[in-house]
Amino acid sequence: MLNVENKVVIITGSSSGIGAATAKLLAKNGARVILGARRIDRLEAIAKDIHAEGGIAEYQALDVTQHSQLEAIVQFAQSKFDRVDVLINNAGIMPLSTLDQLKVEEWDRMIDVNIKGVLYGIAAALPVMKAQKAGQIINLSSIGGHTVFSTAAVYCATKFAVGAISEGLRQEVGGDIRVTVISPGVTESELADSISDETARIGMQEFRRLSIPAEAIARAILFAISQPDDVDVSEMIVRPTASP
Ligand code: NDP
Repeated sequence: MLNVENKVVIITGSSSGIGAATAKLLAKNGARVILGARRIDRLEAIAKDIHAEGGIAEYQALDVTQHSQLEAIVQFAQSKFDRVDVLINNAGIMPLSTLDQLKVEEWDRMIDVNIKGVLYGIAAALPVMKAQKAGQIINLSSIGGHTVFSTAAVYCATKFAVGAISEGLRQEVGGDIRVTVISPGVTESELADSISDETARIGMQEFRRLSIPAEAIARAILFAISQPDDVDVSEMIVRPTASP
């Protein structure tokens, strides 16, 4: 039996892309999933699909830039299912542009969602997992968390930060709590929709022709969760075979 059945899994940013695919795959494998994102209509539709397949899913509106909303979704999970086994800090945005365009508001938003959102998730879930003496936190980084590319200095900085936070957390809480960082390469999703800069958007559209399906990342997440409790898949890079 996979070590995923009945687990209570909160997934941030599960209204599209990797988060939505992960919710569906985990539910299909017996997890009880809690979906969170801002587009509640999308969450409702995904939860309905999961229910139609016999799975268990709940959802709640979530803006990861608000610490209180991460606390609220953790409490919601506890009120429904009494525990939280896994938190997947997946929500992220990628408005690419060169630094000299000084898109300061976009830098702020990336830092707020991609870094602070992950920290707020950890802050909300860690006390619960420590009390349970068990749990797993899975953070979504990127190949951009390993290599910097032009137009992506701030995005890559946020993803390097996710790697650093994950490794620090793993060293501090390892034993009872597993920490996993997943770094996708180019994957089908709505991530590039947030790019306001025309040149960066066109460049990314070209690169995205290589995309692998969001389910490929969902399978990596399922693999990390389904290992025995004493096995921590601490890091995975999953990218298209054809990546340069
Ligand atoms: P999508 O744009 O499809 O999904 C991003 C999700 O994040 C959406 O569900 C969105 O929901 C949510 N989100 C954005 N802002 C917030 C917020 N403030 N609060 C709560 N949720 C928010 O992209 P992906 O599925 O690709 O992205 C998932 C993760 O994977 C991200 O961390 C991304 O950086 C990472 N990644 C993706 C790659 C790719 O090629 N696709 C490559 C490398 C990493 P809503 O708008 O409804 O709130």
